[in-house]
Amino acid sequence: MKVAVIGGGMMGLASAFYLSQQKCEVTLFEKEQEVGGLSKAEEFIPGHRWDRYYHVILSTDSELLSFIDEIGLSLDVHFTETKTGFFTNGELHSMSTTLEFIQFKPLSLWQKFRLGAGILYASRIHDSSRLEKLYAKNWLITVFGRRIYEKIWDPLLRSKFGDAKDQASGSFIWSCITRYYGTREKSSKKEMMGVVKGGYYSILNRIKSQLIERGVKIHRSNCIRKIVAGENKQITLIDAHGDTHHFDKVLSAVPSPEFISIWPDIPDDYREMLSSVDYLRLICVNLVLKKSLSPYYVTNLTDPGFPFTGFIDATNIIPTETLNGNALIYLPRYLPPDDPYYHRSDAEVLADFLTGVRRIFPTFSESDILSSSIHREQYVQPIQKINYSKSIPSITTPIDNLFIVNTTMIVNSTLNNNQVIMLARKASDLIANPKRDNSCLP
Ligand SMILES: Cc1cc2nc3c(=O)[nH]c(=O)nc-3n(C[C@H](O)[C@H](O)[C@H](O)COP(=O)(O)OP(=O)(O)OC[C@H]3O[C@@H](n4cnc5c(N)ncnc54)[C@H](O)[C@@H]3O)c2cc1C
Repeated sequence: MKVAVIGGGMMGLASAFYLSQQKCEVTLFEKEQEVGGLSKAEEFIPGHRWDRYYHVILSTDSELLSFIDEIGLSLDVHFTETKTGFFTNGELHSMSTTLEFIQFKPLSLWQKFRLGAGILYASRIHDSSRLEKLYAKNWLITVFGRRIYEKIWDPLLRSKFGDAKDQASGSFIWSCITRYYGTREKSSKKEMMGVVKGGYYSILNRIKSQLIERGVKIHRSNCIRKIVAGENKQITLIDAHGDTHHFDKVLSAVPSPEFISIWPDIPDDYREMLSSVDYLRLICVNLVLKKSLSPYYVTNLTDPGFPFTGFIDATNIIPTETLNGNALIYLPRYLPPDDPYYHRSDAEVLADFLTGVRRIFPTFSESDILSSSIHREQYVQPIQKINYSKSIPSITTPIDNLFIVNTTMIVNSTLNNNQVIMLARKASDLIANPKRDNSCLP
């Protein structure tokens, strides 16, 4: 069976991996020069690469870890004890251990008790479908009280959603809490985060070489421009060069707006359903510095007015030799789709962001910057609004032999590659074994 996969991000690559394992004849199309999408690598200094966007693996990422095992990289996974910081009331605070939590000055003893009890309560909820009907803000105020909401949760919601924070559902913030809880090692309660030696660059290279070994054809720098339902239930793809390719089945692994734009005959009601999910955009400033700035992997910013929504000092998790002993900082800003900030010039963004860095670290000097880069992404985090699970597509589409899988199908969880691998496996199973009972699929 000839199957095409459109999109060479982690979803498309993992789908091609599982489809080729099931003896399908697979062709993958990626519009960029390199595969990887949001998981791609960046050459920060000549010859030294790491993830373009900050990525970690949690010990609870069982699907991702078993995929890494399947591609033969499990021995390269390393977990490190990390710390989380808070910049609150103009000061940096560590919030990584129970003792530090108790000593956290910005909250009163009663507020700390209520925060701890609320987090424990949230982490024990197993069925979050009830929370999907509530706005995150309302649910958080009920569980934690208004003061804690304003001091802690409102800024944290902003860090995930930017100005779209009031649209998020209770189940989304619940999924953030449970994922954060997943960083805690069961017995010691230490915060642990993992990476693969060489980062996603190694993972992507290993997937690519295994796909090539299995005979998968990878067309890079080749954007699919058009999907057409052909004769005999075949699907035809027209690529960037105007060439036509015929397949028995096609799986689209690109964000929904991209899928809509390449399928001119898409039924109106189906287009409407796919368009109902908005994606947050992202601007991320990456800095390579002579030295690390913070002992915390993530610093949450609860004071208002920062141009970025979180401060990530990845030096705390990447192997020292990765960037020749230099430090790597990520400064992300998530934006609603219509936020004009997305179109600010690089010079304006960099100036704004560096002012923000100096606010946290007054001794920070620009002479410590070895390199900087600014990246923008249009389709990052699907916004999980109220009753989100009712607005997402299934893997099958209104026409036979055309399938779709993308991150809008992640429900009650944050955007992460553990969910991506799970979805890719489900989609591949459905395509390769259509007769199997797939009733549990999205
Ligand atoms: C800042 C940030 C931090 C993150 N942190 C983590 C983390 O710590 N842990 C974790 O597990 N995950 C993390 N993630 C999430 C992870 O990066 C995503 O889950 C994953 O990359 C999504 O992959 P995808 O293939 O679904 O989408 P994408 O990566 O968007 O891939 C889509 C691909 O399709 C291609 N494409 C689009 N249109 C066409 C076309 N017409 N023809 C051909 N190709 C096309 C694109 O070029 C792209 O390569 C993070 C993401 C971001 C942005």
